[in-house]
Amino acid sequence: MFSVARVFSKPVSGLRVPLLRSFSTRSAVCSEARLNSLYTLSEEEQMLKTEVARFANDKVKPLVQEMDENETLDKGILKGLFDAGLMGIETPVEYGGSGGSFMSAILTVEELAKIDPSISVICDVQNTLVNTLFRKFGSKHLKEKYLARLATDTVGCFGLSEANSGSDAFALKTRAVKDGSHYIITGSKLWITNSGEADIFLVFANADPSAGYKGITCFVLDRDMGVQVSAKEKKLGIRCSSTCGLTFDGIMVPEENILGEYGKGYKYAIEILNEGRIGIAAQMVGLAQGVFDMTLPYLFERQQFGEKIGEFQGMQHQYAQAATEIEAARLLTYNAARLKDEGQPFLYQSTMAKLYASQIAQKVSSQCIDWMGGVGFTREYPIEKFYRDSKIGTIYEGTSNIQLSTIAKNLAKRYS
Ligand SMILES: Cc1cc2nc3c(=O)[nH]c(=O)nc-3n(C[C@H](O)[C@H](O)[C@H](O)COP(=O)(O)OP(=O)(O)OC[C@H]3O[C@@H](n4cnc5c(N)ncnc54)[C@H](O)[C@@H]3O)c2cc1C
Repeated sequence: MFSVARVFSKPVSGLRVPLLRSFSTRSAVCSEARLNSLYTLSEEEQMLKTEVARFANDKVKPLVQEMDENETLDKGILKGLFDAGLMGIETPVEYGGSGGSFMSAILTVEELAKIDPSISVICDVQNTLVNTLFRKFGSKHLKEKYLARLATDTVGCFGLSEANSGSDAFALKTRAVKDGSHYIITGSKLWITNSGEADIFLVFANADPSAGYKGITCFVLDRDMGVQVSAKEKKLGIRCSSTCGLTFDGIMVPEENILGEYGKGYKYAIEILNEGRIGIAAQMVGLAQGVFDMTLPYLFERQQFGEKIGEFQGMQHQYAQAATEIEAARLLTYNAARLKDEGQPFLYQSTMAKLYASQIAQKVSSQCIDWMGGVGFTREYPIEKFYRDSKIGTIYEGTSNIQLSTIAKNLAKRYS
């Protein structure tokens, strides 16, 4: 069976030993990045990309339509993601992970999305939001308790949004009240990806509303502390990825389950979403490439007026334009990921990548339906599913308007 362990490591006494060269030190990254194109992948990244593509085609593809129709995630696919080491890509080897680079996670998300953007987001949230929060801000105790489980068999989720706080995330109403060595969490969350399967919940709650957003603190909750998970939302797209509401009815959480520092939750959320949206950009690039790859052969099979429809100039110009736009979205995404791996500022680039890739995913998947004519509109072909799945890209991890506001703020700083 495919295992990312084979890519990153060789088993020694049951441990995974990372063989990553190009991302093992900052200087190695910088020298390589200066010399090479964005398409130059390290040997390990290239192998990972190939193996993930194989996993997506062999294991995921046969079940995509069934999972979409039934709005359920196949348990075997989830297990396959864990067994392959794809749920702890950047998690250090000592915590049971694969010790890979951020770019490796991005390539994985992209490859999965070419086949199923729903499976891609399950992997993306676990890697770029949940694991990263633990890795960056968790105490040794929290890392030891949770990181290995997240890498091997347990799904986690990221609970920030609420019914009345979406784009205005820090207006959240979930409260944390200190009670001896515990906090009592009361409130609710909405739209939480992976919460249907999750046992570990990162929950942002305000522990000092008088301090405004500076009271927001991130808590780690286990499902068995009493987290109530509502029924899955019935969605337009990414239907096998669970999106549920959460209720906390006075849950007692030990103080040691504060992730990082008290009152720093807002900072952590901003920081993690800044890099998380490179993952969403990768999901959208993968989606656009996937639907394009599945559509183009049809244009050279289908004939009208005695010619292949792909040979009409009116069609050629459209798919040439689409290919160029997918390429541009991928380069924005890879560049943002490389900047992050190099430890350089990347906010401006990650925001543009997410904005543009999600726009292109919608545009290209919509065009692919047009190019296939009537059959593109049926559920017999996977094209309409990509179109439905593409709609989420402009909404989660900051809507397109929010991305534009961030880009505009950056420009104002430079030019005003
Ligand atoms: C499938 C799915 C999965 C999700 N997963 C998660 C998750 O795992 N964790 C989590 O915490 N959240 C999650 N979310 C929530 C998601 O991040 C929010 O839906 C998103 O941030 C938008 O918030 P909202 O839905 O409340 O829309 P609103 O904020 O109400 O926005 C509605 C419209 O108003 C516009 N708007 C709002 N404010 C401004 C402004 N200042 N300037 C210009 N336009 C503005 C928006 O761009 C949008 O077009 C998920 C959502 C979905 C649908």
